Amino acid sequence: MLQQTQVIKVIDYFNNFIDRFPTLKSLAEAESEQVLACWSGLGYYNRARNLHKTAQICSIEHGDQLPVDLNQLMQLPGIGRTTAGAILSLASDLPYPILDGNVKRVMSRFNKISDEKTSAYNAKLWKQVEELMPKSHCRKYNQALMDLGSMICTRSKPHCHRCPIMKNCKARISDQVALFPQSNKKTRQINKTYHILLLVSEGQIYIEKRNSQSIWPQLWFLPMFDTEQKLQSSNLFELEHYTHYLNFNIKHILTHRKLDLQVHCYKNTTTIDRKITKNKKWTAISQYKKLPHPTALVKIIQNYLANEDT
Ligand code: SF4
Repeated sequence: MLQQTQVIKVIDYFNNFIDRFPTLKSLAEAESEQVLACWSGLGYYNRARNLHKTAQICSIEHGDQLPVDLNQLMQLPGIGRTTAGAILSLASDLPYPILDGNVKRVMSRFNKISDEKTSAYNAKLWKQVEELMPKSHCRKYNQALMDLGSMICTRSKPHCHRCPIMKNCKARISDQVALFPQSNKKTRQINKTYHILLLVSEGQIYIEKRNSQSIWPQLWFLPMFDTEQKLQSSNLFELEHYTHYLNFNIKHILTHRKLDLQVHCYKNTTTIDRKITKNKKWTAISQYKKLPHPTALVKIIQNYLANEDT
């Protein structure tokens, strides 16, 4: 959960997740929809899918346990060298280093390692963390290093005067802290507009499960179109049964995309045949959160309900 996400955002999700799936076995036996529903709102949903697959593999191949072996861990879905190192050091107190974003920044400054864009950069950092890794107190050491990066050796305005390793930090000694690590060129954010169809009928909304190649794969969301024309001409819905009710737009930011979601709301005026398939359904507005869904859906429904009341 903590990959790409701050602790403060994760705490409630973590507690709910552990309540729902208290053992590796219970997670392995869960339906993928149940796992994704617990993850809804946290983003980066591949983490949930990988966690689920990993639990299933461990259940079959490792007797419902995580292996205590670096190479075996790294063969599991979603577990790279840093996550494997974190599992082995934090859970089993074994001497395996980690190199998350915070540790990278500390190491880069501590030994003035630059050229962030080259493949040699990571190799140099890994060599450094391996050399520095103690043989005991591994759990405390790795946690301290991550905390040092997140609280003291911050990306901007690091607190060098409070830093326990300041006397040996090459970047600080040479007064070049601002030069390390070399900042990556910011990835250009793409602006994209989508037209969203919100069909409401007798307190229910129509939702679809998104395909695995789209934004929000396998999550439930409203029908989404590239253009308003495509929305209007879609044969999926017999819009003549509906009354156009409201339009509004929502801004939603993903990692490298800024979405402008233009929502077109329709209410039905007559009782209609509600076709339901495995990937399409009507659900009560009060119940949709029980299904795996992206945060954008919550924003849309909240906005819709606020407008409906006025
Ligand atoms: S002295 Fe400053 S730059 Fe060096 S590791 Fe500490 S906080 Fe980071």
